Amino acid sequence: MKTKEFSLAAETPMITELLGKSKEELREFCVTLGEPAFRGAQIYHALYSERKFDVGQITNLPAALRERLLREARVTLPEVKQRFTSADGSVRYLFGLGDAEKVKTFNAEGTESTEFAEKSGEERASRRLQKPASVEAVFMPSEGRQTICVSTQAGCAVDCHFCLTAQLGLIRNLTAGEILAQVLLPLEEAHRGTRIEMKDGGLPAGLGQVPPAATKQIEEKDGGLKPAATRTGLAPQTNIVLMGQGEPLLNFEPVMAAVRIMLDPEGLGISPKHMTLSTSGIVPGIERLAQEKVRPKLAISLNASHDEQRDALMPINKKYPLSVLMKACKEYPLRTWEHLTFEYVMLGGINDAGEDAQRVVRLLAPLKSVKVNLIPWNPGELPYHESSPERIEEFRRILVDRGVPAFVRYSRGRDVMAACGQLALLQIDCAPLSVVSPQ
Ligand code: SF4
Repeated sequence: MKTKEFSLAAETPMITELLGKSKEELREFCVTLGEPAFRGAQIYHALYSERKFDVGQITNLPAALRERLLREARVTLPEVKQRFTSADGSVRYLFGLGDAEKVKTFNAEGTESTEFAEKSGEERASRRLQKPASVEAVFMPSEGRQTICVSTQAGCAVDCHFCLTAQLGLIRNLTAGEILAQVLLPLEEAHRGTRIEMKDGGLPAGLGQVPPAATKQIEEKDGGLKPAATRTGLAPQTNIVLMGQGEPLLNFEPVMAAVRIMLDPEGLGISPKHMTLSTSGIVPGIERLAQEKVRPKLAISLNASHDEQRDALMPINKKYPLSVLMKACKEYPLRTWEHLTFEYVMLGGINDAGEDAQRVVRLLAPLKSVKVNLIPWNPGELPYHESSPERIEEFRRILVDRGVPAFVRYSRGRDVMAACGQLALLQIDCAPLSVVSPQ
């Protein structure tokens, strides 16, 4: 078998994944191809700024290089398994990642993946990382901006008891490219007002190098070809929240590699003011993030006012109790324009009493520049219920009266299980929830 692998490897060039590579990595890649390094910067700009996923369409590259890239590189976008459109206009994407069956379609010159998988040890390692998984991202258009909620892991190991994602357990970490794709693909769909999808007989949706013909309108339920919803064109501002499936600080390197590209003016060009990473309170990760030159804003998922309560809701608190977490928050180096956000999911009868609000005020008192987002719990098959609007307002009033800025944030997309804590790969087309999004 070894002889066969060696012989095959010698015959076939290794396929290099471009999506997720930094500018420097792309420059180095081009040098290894015998090309000038600046070609790497051109590929970087085309991929992330222009969202050109078909390397054949990067027309400022010489034709010979484009042809070589078509043979020796690929851009892997996730397969769009399903889109769930909420009454409020949000779209929950169910993405399939690393489906080996479909990746094979995009191997050079139609070579099948099973054969290809035998050719290179590096490719086999990559396959293990990219074992099939599904994740979700949520695209939320609104006046003047769009917000995209992105997953950083498939599933999650943190086990917050009020969160449906926890039920999945950790399936695997995502690569930088898989994180970026959750932003690039919805942005491109919205920009074009069409959905990137192939129908019968073409290349599967979004996997590999997507030729221009792969972007087209799809058939809607009532027949005919229509633009994707009403999302025609992008709003001027894009917000990114790393609040989908997973704990971003437990997949630190790939998350930060994706973040650097998103925040690079020559990459996606997202402003750091418009990007938020939310953590359950992984203290070593917070300390590490503090050292990063380029970083998003930080949000802490607090959800409790004392250790006993937080231990019961979020077992991670036993490892990083509130005193340790608050110390890390106090030492976190905020930029002049920045504040720390604390998210507090309101669970009826559990953490929503007036005394809880007073304890939250005391917890946050030593910190500068904080704000609290109160998030009404979003329904799911879990033993909790929502706090009443009156209770939430009373909680908010206690915080505000004692000098803590607090806001009630209703999640979008509840009716399609796209809201905070609801991302659990639910295929609700058969059994839609009878949940109405509050205004
Ligand atoms: Fe994981 Fe976040 Fe859900 Fe907690 S709330 S289980 S960290 S996805």
